Amino acid sequence: MTEMGFAAQSATGPLEQFAFERRAPRPEDVVIDILFCGVCHTDLHLARNHGGFTTYPIVPGHEIIGRVREVGTAVSRFKAGDLAGVGCMVDSCQHCKPCLQGWEQDCVEGSTYTYNSVDRQDGGVTYGGYSGSVVVRDKFVLSMPDGLDPAGAAPLLCAGITTWSPLHRWNVGEDSKVAVIGLGGLGHMALKLAKALGADVTLFTRSAGKEEDAFRLGADHVVLSGEPEQMKAVAGRFDVIIDTVPYDHDVNPYMPTLALEGVLVLVGYLGPLGTPVNAGGVVRGRRAISGSFIGGVPETQQMLDFCGAHGIVSDVEIIPIQKINEAYERMLKSDVKYRFVIDMASLKSQGA
Ligand code: NAP
Ligand code: ZN
Ligand code: ZN
Repeated sequence: MTEMGFAAQSATGPLEQFAFERRAPRPEDVVIDILFCGVCHTDLHLARNHGGFTTYPIVPGHEIIGRVREVGTAVSRFKAGDLAGVGCMVDSCQHCKPCLQGWEQDCVEGSTYTYNSVDRQDGGVTYGGYSGSVVVRDKFVLSMPDGLDPAGAAPLLCAGITTWSPLHRWNVGEDSKVAVIGLGGLGHMALKLAKALGADVTLFTRSAGKEEDAFRLGADHVVLSGEPEQMKAVAGRFDVIIDTVPYDHDVNPYMPTLALEGVLVLVGYLGPLGTPVNAGGVVRGRRAISGSFIGGVPETQQMLDFCGAHGIVSDVEIIPIQKINEAYERMLKSDVKYRFVIDMASLKSQGA
């Protein structure tokens, strides 16, 4: 079936209207009419080919909330009319060790991402949520808990799970001291989730002026990372630091702020760090630098259920799809409060 979306045709051009084919639903598929789609910094990285592996045209979007339009004959978990979510993955091998453990994001055969990925079933390219509808294998469709605002819930599908997964892995709870580097989409979800888990929460930010928002979002303390005195004042403090910075940066100044056996978890930047890591910063204090990549399907459902129980959604600025290029420019200036979410009704309003 022909679908409309917004695509980038090159690394330098704007995203523009684009017609493409969605596959006819298979027995195990769910067809979802998209209501809202969050705008992740990964969408920008890939639209602009920052990693060097983008296939054009690219239809980004992996924070998808929509209504189920129809389901295949083998689907029992969903029915037409249900509110459903789709995150960063739409398929995986389902038989390797990580898949069997619920870590589909680290599938040995490579998971199929929601966009810019090869569809393992038919070899086509996947197109994401900046579009009217999506067809997804039921195992990768999430149930949305009742009572959450659908626009605010969309970013849970990536920003939420990407920050929840490391908090969960390192057993963050009431006795934990957690810090978050960068107050953007991931950062603000990390503040909210760490706070809801009972931790004492600190924000590291480059940007003076975000303090008031940070306190409202769940921070107990704010540290301006460019102020050496403020950095010294938190030496030896944190059990877990979630680093959401999207570009190359020096992690060394953060290492002395970790407590004994504390861990700095990279979730933002995926490329080579330009400033070598000082081994002394990890050797002393038995500290660690680790990383975390989105989260598996069962863990994503667990995070959504936690957010449903605690009334947690993202703070969003809703935009029509026609403003997506402007939103990318603002994201580059850290001018996001704190996630853009596209209202997909705007796609129809321009006759698309
Ligand atoms: P975002 O909304 O643009 O927020 C990033 C924040 O980082 C900014 O608000 C800013 O906060 C800080 N920052 C930006 N540029 C910086 C720089 N050059 N140096 C230091 N700090 C900087 O981005 P996002 O959507 O949260 O995504 C963050 C990163 O996570 C992206 O690279 C994205 O691709 C990646 N990501 C990874 C995963 C995963 O599975 N690991 C999943 C989703 C996204 P302050 O103004 O407070 O300093
Ligand atoms: Zn994302
Ligand atoms: Zn697998």
